[in-house]
Formats: sequence, structure tokens, C-alpha cells
Amino acid sequence: MPISTPRTNYSVSTCLLLSIFFAIVSFAPAQQEPSKTAQSDQSSAGPANRTPPRQRSTKRGTSPRNAQISRIVAEINPRNIERTILRLVSFGTRNTLSEQNEPNRGIGAARDWIYSEFQKAAAESDGRMVVEKQTFEQPKAARVPQPTMLTNIVATLKGTQPESVNRVYVVSGHYDSMCTSPTDARCDAPGGNDDASGTAAVLEMARVMAKYKFEATIVFMTVAGEEQGLLGSTYFAETAKKNNLDIEAMFTNDIIGSSLGGNGVRDPHSVRVFSEGVPSNETQAEATTRRSVGGENDSASRQLARFIKETSERYVPSMKVWMIYRRDRYGRGGDHQPFLERGYAAVRFTEPNEDYRHQHQNVRVENGIQYGDLPQFDDFKYIANVARVNAAALAALASAPARPKTAVFPAGQSNDTQIKWDANKESDIAGYEIVWRDTTEPVWTHSRAVGNVSEYTMKGMSKDNYFFGVRAVDKSGNRSPASYPRPLPRRRTGTAPTESPAPPPN
Ligand SMILES: [Zn+2]
Repeated sequence: MPISTPRTNYSVSTCLLLSIFFAIVSFAPAQQEPSKTAQSDQSSAGPANRTPPRQRSTKRGTSPRNAQISRIVAEINPRNIERTILRLVSFGTRNTLSEQNEPNRGIGAARDWIYSEFQKAAAESDGRMVVEKQTFEQPKAARVPQPTMLTNIVATLKGTQPESVNRVYVVSGHYDSMCTSPTDARCDAPGGNDDASGTAAVLEMARVMAKYKFEATIVFMTVAGEEQGLLGSTYFAETAKKNNLDIEAMFTNDIIGSSLGGNGVRDPHSVRVFSEGVPSNETQAEATTRRSVGGENDSASRQLARFIKETSERYVPSMKVWMIYRRDRYGRGGDHQPFLERGYAAVRFTEPNEDYRHQHQNVRVENGIQYGDLPQFDDFKYIANVARVNAAALAALASAPARPKTAVFPAGQSNDTQIKWDANKESDIAGYEIVWRDTTEPVWTHSRAVGNVSEYTMKGMSKDNYFFGVRAVDKSGNRSPASYPRPLPRRRTGTAPTESPAPPPN
């Protein structure tokens, strides 16, 4: 889908992002559940038999549960999600090119209603949540026949820890809709699933989470122009990049509405999480390094998917996080892409089996088959469970320390594996864990607490044979996603450091 670069409306966008950055007026201590168990090494099923005996993790341990996350999961309510979806559908169409100033029909009516709902959520936040309209003029583009104003609704819940307030997590859905033709602004386009479901999930998370405190900042966002070529999300991501916003993760929720697929399979217990392996913004030099040392399965987005699986399945045990090792569905795209292209970790949430009769279709009955994206095909309890999966991971990310920065393997061949990283700056850091897995394992299978250090050596374990990562742990037991070490650039005498190592001699 062609994406044109939007013309910048600096007055609105700069204000918005600067406010995310700087409008932090007061800090309050984060409410964290005290850790009930000491940190312990964890070992789960995996290639332990290949691990040298003295390197095995000795104790099985469970991270302490964060009671705030359990409360958030419990408070998410399918009836609110149903109410939001029916209201969004009632606007007839939310096509990006539809009416902007009618009170009851078109995208403008939806925009204003969503804005007022976010404001209600913000009223419960003691001033920590700020809601803004990010409006810009989209120039003519493939699916935009004339310059059009687009508006993203952005609700920012400020973090409470000074060292973490500028660390941002974004959760998004798109509130625009389409019928068969993306430029038909008049047809009814209920968008009950695509993407009232994602919009409703984001709004419900904002309602529930605005009352709680998190160390880092969370942005709850609904964007326009997705069906026109990812326009709203592109504008947000581009503006964030220009302002050096530290977005540590972005989730898009798009088509999370139905547990029944066009293949007849009903699966209310799975949600697909798409994550790319090779970063969309990988440079040639990084590609050369990756070919030499591996890592095509260890991008920041893939680590994020692993974190979501590990975290959310604990807090929402009825749901399986089905990791899909692709950027998106086959040949298709979504609002996480503009973030990936700008170097931000991002994933997409989507129902397990789609029904194409109910996406991008004029509402009609043909040969006895109902076409159209009608809310009668939504499963509100399922959407609530997907929202819970999102919320558990988001809350865990925003409660945890940042992932360790600049994790590296020092140069040199050895049967031991040395890992170094920069010490985190949060005041409540307890220490770090090395995680590892066999090269064929999808998720981290082992972890070891190594104390509050910034380097560690795994004795007798070669980085040829395992993938390693390092994660930060705070005093309440909250864990960051894993950072995947890169090879430390080699220095050649008298020259600048090379960005990628020459392949070692055999
Ligand atoms: Zn969509």
C-alpha cells in the first residue's frame, strides 16, 4: 500500500509530543506489590541436558505476581466493549473521507465521541492522563483524492518514576472503516470488527488503567487513515521519531473481534501476535553482521512477542498467545509498520481465523450469505480477553525497568560466554538475569539471577550453541523484556571501529 509523507502541521504535533515528553508536573511513588519471594533462578523444560551440569539453573522459581496487574485484568469488562462497538457502528460510516462535521454520521462524529470517552477515563487519573487530538492535513495520495484533515486521538498516561517517565509504550487501534471501495465515503461501513474491536479494546484499557500508576508512560491511541494507507499511524510515528520519543514498544490491535473464522473454526482462546524477525529498518552493515553471527529470530519486536507470551499467559490463563513469526498476515499490513520502519519494536494482535465476508465488504446479502462488517459477528467476551492480554503485557512493561541498553558480546573466541551491558538508571533496580535457550527454541527456556552487575560470564557455555539475552529486574520482581547482545565492534589499529566484525578465520 503506497504511503505518502504527510505534510506536517507542527503547531499540533509538536505540542502533543512535547507534552508527552515534558508535561510531567509531579512524581508519585509507584504502587508496586512487595515481592513475596526472593529472586531465584528459573528453569523450565528445555535443553538442560545439554547444559554443562555446573551451569544448570539450580532452583525453579516463579516471579512474584504483581497484584495491580491482576486487578486490571479483572476490571476489563466485555459490556463496555460491546457498548463502544455499537456506538461506533451507529455513526454509519467512519471512512476517513466521510463527514467531519455531522453530529451523528461519519468519522468526525466518531472522532468527537472517542475524544469525550477518553476524557471520561482521564477524569479518573488524578491529572496523570492527558487527552489530545493530533490533527494534520493529509495531502492527496493513492486513496486520498483531495487534501483531507485526519485526527488521531491520543491519551497519554504519565509515568510516575522520574527515570522512566520518558519511556513510552503505545497501544493502538484504528477507528476508521471502509466498505468495498476504500474511497467510497457514502456507503455504510460499520467496521464492527475492523476496527471497532481494536478501538474498543484500547478505550477499555484506558478506562481501567487510568486509575493506576505505572513507572513508565503509556499512550492509548486510536488513529484514522489506516484503510487509506496507514496514514494516521505514519504521522504519529514520524512525529515521534523527529522528537526522539523513546517508544520502547507499540501494540496495534486490528481485527480482534471474532472468535469464529471463515473456515468454520471457533477459537475463543487464542490471539495471534505477529512480530518480525529481521528488523524493517535493518541497515546493510547490520545485515552483514547478522549473517555472520545469527539473530534473525531475535529482533526487539520478537523479544517483545516473547515477553507478551510469557507475561500475559500467566495473568490471562484462558488465553494462548499464538506467536506468528511474520511482520503481518501474508502480504498485508497494519499500523505497527510505520513504527517498525522507524526502528521501534512493535507487534500486531489479530483474531486467529479471519472471515473475509465480514471485512472490507458492502453490507448485503448474496445467495443467502450476509456480507459486511456487522457487530453481530463480534464476540465481546473474546475482545475483552484480547484486551486483557494487551493490558497485562502493557502494565508489566510499564511497571518494569527498561531492557538493558547496549548489551554486547566482547570479541574473541571462547567456550565461555561473556556478556556486558550498561547499568540501568532506575533507583529500584535489584539486578539482572541472563536468559538463554537452545537455538531451535521459540522462547527463553532458562534464566539465572546474576546480581546487580553489568557483566557476567556463562562458564562452559559457548555462544555458538545457545542464544543468550539479559533482562533487568526491580526490587518488586518486575522483569524487563530481554535484550539480545550484539557483537562488540572490533577496532583495527589506526582506523575507526568497523560497524560489523569481519568473519573470524576458521
Ligand atoms: Zn484494520
